[in-house]
Amino acid sequence: MKYDVLIVGAGVTGALLFLALKNKNINVGLIDSRDKAPNSYRHLSLNNKSMTFLKELDAWNVISKNAFEYNQIKVWDQEGTGFIDFNVNELEKNIPNIGFIVKEGDIQNSLLSLVSDSKNLLWSCNLEKIEKINGDIHCETSKGKLETKILIGADGIQSSVRNLSSISSRTWSYNQTAIVANFSVPQTDPCIRQTFTSVGPLALLPMNETELTMIWSIDDTKAYDYIGMNEDDFINEIHQSFGEKLPEIKFSAKRQSFPLKHLSAKTFARGNVFLVGDAAHHIHPLAGLGLNAGIGDVKSLSDLITPESLLQVKQIEDRYNRQRIPINLALAAAMEAFKRGFEQKNIWIRLIRNHAFSLTNKLTFLKNKFIELATEL
Ligand SMILES: Cc1cc2nc3c(=O)[nH]c(=O)nc-3n(C[C@H](O)[C@H](O)[C@H](O)COP(=O)(O)OP(=O)(O)OC[C@H]3O[C@@H](n4cnc5c(N)ncnc54)[C@H](O)[C@@H]3O)c2cc1C
Repeated sequence: MKYDVLIVGAGVTGALLFLALKNKNINVGLIDSRDKAPNSYRHLSLNNKSMTFLKELDAWNVISKNAFEYNQIKVWDQEGTGFIDFNVNELEKNIPNIGFIVKEGDIQNSLLSLVSDSKNLLWSCNLEKIEKINGDIHCETSKGKLETKILIGADGIQSSVRNLSSISSRTWSYNQTAIVANFSVPQTDPCIRQTFTSVGPLALLPMNETELTMIWSIDDTKAYDYIGMNEDDFINEIHQSFGEKLPEIKFSAKRQSFPLKHLSAKTFARGNVFLVGDAAHHIHPLAGLGLNAGIGDVKSLSDLITPESLLQVKQIEDRYNRQRIPINLALAAAMEAFKRGFEQKNIWIRLIRNHAFSLTNKLTFLKNKFIELATEL
């Protein structure tokens, strides 16, 4: 089989790019090593920029049916008095909300359901080897040989496309593990709450009217204690660590854990190979921006790839690198600063941190800047 564009990985970024390029009548294929879409029950926050792109592709109608809108973010430091409240009604910018919480499986399934002709989507197809012959890329997969002009790695943090094309990356562990779980509560409100506890940031996000999803990024030295804890003790820990009174919470989906590491590929495009999403960059989930950054990559690449531009792939590579590397490096640096700032045990740094938190809460200008980053990435 021969394609103009072959995408490896049918996660959210791969599925979205497949849909966007299909809509432009590009001869595109999509492969994934899994046997089907996993319907992941992890919930992610989507910002307005991602939502606008999904709208352009007529995908938002379907996804929005199960999306929960939020209009406030409260962040505080458990070990001090610092507190920031981002409320959509107090912001300069006239926006109806800050973003949406959506189930990862719903986004992926909705995108794939919108591709009317899915004969170019191959499940149980693992990319194993690539070779460049006469300008085209020849791929060996578990389902046979595939040829393409452009190969796109949307295959996640362990990206085979990145490794097989020898694109190197900078990577380090955040020394934290994210524990994710869902809880039922009597009633939610449209607010994300995040507190910096002594073991790491703990966030509770409303999934719908009666459920919350939790992401607690816990220092590796303590993470196994929390993963192994029985459910009642774990809920007790949340109540004690949260710092704001919580209603009664009950598990509605069991705990999952994700080791957290940073990754930045040294280039996002080279030699007819492109990387999008986690294959190109992976950041700490504390600001809920990783997938939004991946959707930004897809938007950029789907604008750059047209039937005409396929004749000048080098130009697409240069533009894509220029558009996406700086913004992702800036985001990675911001996440690193946040994380390092909050893991400090030094009393002086903690005092300054609390002061900075309180000051930021009073400075509308700074709050508007934060929201701009969170909504416009
Ligand atoms: C705890 C946690 C919470 C998060 N919360 C948020 C949030 O609130 N908001 C946000 O924006 N981001 C969030 N993120 C980040 C977000 O989850 C990721 O950025 C996003 O899911 C990455 O999507 P992707 O499509 O790039 O990769 P993936 O979802 O990893 O998809 C990769 C696909 O490639 C396939 N594949 C891999 N290797 C091969 C191969 N050799 N051949 C064929 N197929 C292959 C896999 O089967 C998979 O389907 C969070 C991350 C974590 C860990």
